[in-house]
Amino acid sequence: MTGLSKSRLMSFLQCPKRLWLEKHQPELAQISAATEAAFATGHEIGAIARQLYDPERTGTLISGADGMAAALRDTAAALATPAVTPLFEATFEREGLLIRADVLDRQAGRLIEVKSSTACKDEHVTDCAIQVWVLETSAVPPESVVLAHVNNQFVYQGEGDYRGLLVEKDLDAAIGAQTHRVPDWLADAQRKVTGDCPDAAIGRRCRTPYDCPFIAQCWPDTDYPLGTLPGVSGRLDALLAEGYKDVRELPAARVGGREAQRVWRAARSGQPEMNDSACKELAALGWPRYYLDFETIGGPIPRWAGTRPYQPIPFQWSLHVEALPGRLEHAEFLDPGGELPARAIATALLAAIGTEGPVLTWSSYEKQCLGTLAGFCPELAEALAAVVGRLVDLLPIVKRAYYHPAMQGSWSIKALLPVIAPELDYAQLKGVRDGSGAQLAWAEAVAPQTAAARRSELREQLLRYCAHDTLAMVRVVHFFS
Ligand code: SF4
Repeated sequence: MTGLSKSRLMSFLQCPKRLWLEKHQPELAQISAATEAAFATGHEIGAIARQLYDPERTGTLISGADGMAAALRDTAAALATPAVTPLFEATFEREGLLIRADVLDRQAGRLIEVKSSTACKDEHVTDCAIQVWVLETSAVPPESVVLAHVNNQFVYQGEGDYRGLLVEKDLDAAIGAQTHRVPDWLADAQRKVTGDCPDAAIGRRCRTPYDCPFIAQCWPDTDYPLGTLPGVSGRLDALLAEGYKDVRELPAARVGGREAQRVWRAARSGQPEMNDSACKELAALGWPRYYLDFETIGGPIPRWAGTRPYQPIPFQWSLHVEALPGRLEHAEFLDPGGELPARAIATALLAAIGTEGPVLTWSSYEKQCLGTLAGFCPELAEALAAVVGRLVDLLPIVKRAYYHPAMQGSWSIKALLPVIAPELDYAQLKGVRDGSGAQLAWAEAVAPQTAAARRSELREQLLRYCAHDTLAMVRVVHFFS
């Protein structure tokens, strides 16, 4: 019998091939910064759950650091003690299936699964059903099961008081018959994982419910993958099943709306589509011009009093200032201390951004960030509102004017830049290359245990990345001008 963990069984339910690759060729997995950030988030929310479900600190955490055999032994030893106290990460095994229970509330006979999402999802119910099946024959079969997920209405009051951060949802009814299906799932998974690599149809499953790390292995190596066609998601599986793999293969009648038609036409012709609307719109802008980009930190656990879960809080900005065509200066701000950076960041920005001239951004995110800063600094709200009044979002301007087939259905600046300014391609950046990476880097930089040399390295990466974002906008404007 092949031993499997709950997460491996969940991988199997997403796709048998994913399980097989995880077991036999894990080196092929490509873990994104976003996935790494999600792992880090899971650890953080687990630590908060231990605080919340064990305020007296009488519970036991089964560490798992010495392997699963030791975790099983430690769990059995904890259960053998007379004290009926909470257990965290208690480890159980049934017929080769291994689970680690986030929280076992032994007083109330409850299994509590902790998730960092703000709602209960189908996969959470399946996750709990698997655990219940394993626990059925254990010394502590749960009388009820709840999902504790993040309450997005929670406002942190400070002092480490996170009571109210998690809300519970009773899953007893939802789990229902799923528990009885676990033995079949397990037997099927054990068969598949010991055989040859199973065939699996690519499709929406590759991103649902989780991003699969083997997409590069399974998806055809084609210049214009079908999944990049705007609006295709709901039809993707059907089109793939019909044999379409590349945008260019679709007949015109199957392509979809205007945006999809544009992407399809450019893919088939191999030529960009361009009109002069961006040139005209940008020519009408005055001087000086400011190019602004924020980086933010969010996450399920608010760091600062007055903030909510997943509320993006700016910690950094970059500002390129173009006083006259081609005459560039650069200003930047990066909070170094880990305190709520709102006032410092807003004050520094207002000092650098002047009182007139367009403030160019990519998407409406910067408007949201300025609103967040105004909320924390009412005395600066008027000045920040004046900056909002000067914002010019480049994204819709460029979208109206331009599409290059190499952008593969995306109008993100990261898709556009390699086409119009290949020397500024984000791929060449070392370390931080995207927003998720920036969040991880900042969190590591402000962590007290981070060594000074590493902190300085992360700071350099963050500054370089954010400056790259605003320089990219400068290049975009020059390109269309
Ligand atoms: S990329 Fe898709 S088909 Fe390939 S293993 Fe992952 S889920 Fe399965």
